[in-house]
Amino acid sequence: MFHGIPVSSGIGHGPVLVVGPRSFQISSVEIPQTAVDDEIQRFKRALVKTREELKAIQKELCRRAETSDAGIFDAHLLVLEDQTIIEEVTRLVAENRINVEAAFSQTTERFISALNAVEDNYLRDRAVDMRDVADRVLGNLLGGGTTDPTRNLKVPSIIVGHDLSPSVTAQFDREKVLGFATDVGSPTSHTAILARSLNLPAVVALHDVSSQLRSGQDVLLDGYDGIVIRNPSESDLFRYGELIRRHESRDHELEAIRELRAETLDGVDVELLTNIDHPDEVDDVARYGGQGVGLFRTEYLFLNRGTLPDETEQFEAYRNAVQGLEGRPLVIRTLDLGADKVAAALPDAAEANPALGVRAIRFSLAHPSIFIKQLRAILRASAYGPVKLLYPMVSTVEELSRANELLEACREELKAASVAFDAKLPVGIMIETPTAAMIADVFSREVDFLCIGTNDLIQYGSAVDRLNERITDLYQPTHPGILRLIGQVVDAGARENVPVSVCGEMAADPVLVPLLIGLGVRALSVSAPLTPQVKDVIRKLKMASAEALAQSALAAVSSEEVMGNARALLNRIAPDLDASST
Ligand code: PEP
Ligand code: MG
Repeated sequence: MFHGIPVSSGIGHGPVLVVGPRSFQISSVEIPQTAVDDEIQRFKRALVKTREELKAIQKELCRRAETSDAGIFDAHLLVLEDQTIIEEVTRLVAENRINVEAAFSQTTERFISALNAVEDNYLRDRAVDMRDVADRVLGNLLGGGTTDPTRNLKVPSIIVGHDLSPSVTAQFDREKVLGFATDVGSPTSHTAILARSLNLPAVVALHDVSSQLRSGQDVLLDGYDGIVIRNPSESDLFRYGELIRRHESRDHELEAIRELRAETLDGVDVELLTNIDHPDEVDDVARYGGQGVGLFRTEYLFLNRGTLPDETEQFEAYRNAVQGLEGRPLVIRTLDLGADKVAAALPDAAEANPALGVRAIRFSLAHPSIFIKQLRAILRASAYGPVKLLYPMVSTVEELSRANELLEACREELKAASVAFDAKLPVGIMIETPTAAMIADVFSREVDFLCIGTNDLIQYGSAVDRLNERITDLYQPTHPGILRLIGQVVDAGARENVPVSVCGEMAADPVLVPLLIGLGVRALSVSAPLTPQVKDVIRKLKMASAEALAQSALAAVSSEEVMGNARALLNRIAPDLDASST
């Protein structure tokens, strides 16, 4: 039995598929003649990126004075510069019109087999080097990290790996993946957030589960308590069968409130919205009783692909989403690339601290041509229904002004070309840094709405990397400092008459919902499957209890104290509610 952190509830049972950090099944795909040049450019970019990665590893090894080890990468670097391989791949792409992954994989496999066939230890070692480099290049071509084995699953399986990137997780086949377990990871990583949106049981921070389990072994994954059981016994299966039935009957009960409003016992209305990562998910909004989309994380349109989506493709995605919502609002957040969301199609500018680097609005402002396409696509989609525009991780007023200048220029262009859009498109920002929270009053005078991204606000407010499983105990949503920041933003919004929503994972935790409402939050946006539990808590809550809880939290000395009071309140009003993780 392995114990980790539960990040997405549910039980999975089936065979394991262990995915290594680099393990690819490449399929050959025919490409049109017009795509040949792009394909070759993609190959060149992947080679450059791989070279940068290897250089960085080499530098790190040298820094740690393991200079003799660092030498091995010289051989790797030579493989990258091997003209025979480069020419062969280019020829295969151009003549056979196949994707570069297939051309590269075929070429390197041929070389590797030839090297392996020779009775010479030195050459055998070169085969190992070549495999390593080839996997790195393929990783960069395909979008980094682990990929393919999860794409073409024959039997429904539980995926187990050291780590899983959000881009890989986003591509999981909902029918075939029963859940996942990883050695590392944290509850507010985007991989964990995706698991909740996909309604996929998941457990992270299991230390060495990926080296302990073998593909094909039977496992039971418990996403409620964070447990993985290898070869579960009959009695384990029976016990978990009972648990599944209990949860099913609870889900059934929650069905009954789907159409009801999210209002407190004393009639205070809370807007309950949904976070989505893909236009297809708009169907889940009404299915789970959401009132609209409070956060569309558009960056997923940019991951897992060799080229960036153009304006038309984006426009169609946004238009489909707003049309699918049939009059419900759609908040589209502009690109939040960076940190754990890395687009393979973009040159990788390695940074020492990516979470503190060129991510989100900083990235968009640094790449106006990418940003403008997105702004135009969003404006055009606004002609089809109630769209709002949201800029991520704004930390200064200047950033907001620069983004708005580009938006204004897009409006002018569209107007001049007689292209329809909503001239009154509401514009808001995410409050995700402490400094932004502190000047929320200033921002409120410049925007139509604010959305508090607590996942990042906690990360930056407490200086705790949200992806680092070694410090999850310090990642505290109930830290009185964080609650004061949230309170400050809500008060500033109320003074300026600007609506404030919370769209971080805190908003979906039944324990924390009363606290947020007590602080004055009147709009929450959560992963679709978690909507019913949030609505249930709201409908059982009295404002006086929520406000008393919030008041005591603002004056509390520790996060444990706040958590204790919040749990006690939830226990009083909804003792049967599963306290999911944040
Ligand atoms: C947040 O930071 O709370 C948020 C909603 O944005 P993301 O999780 O995408 O960083
Ligand atoms: Mg964020």
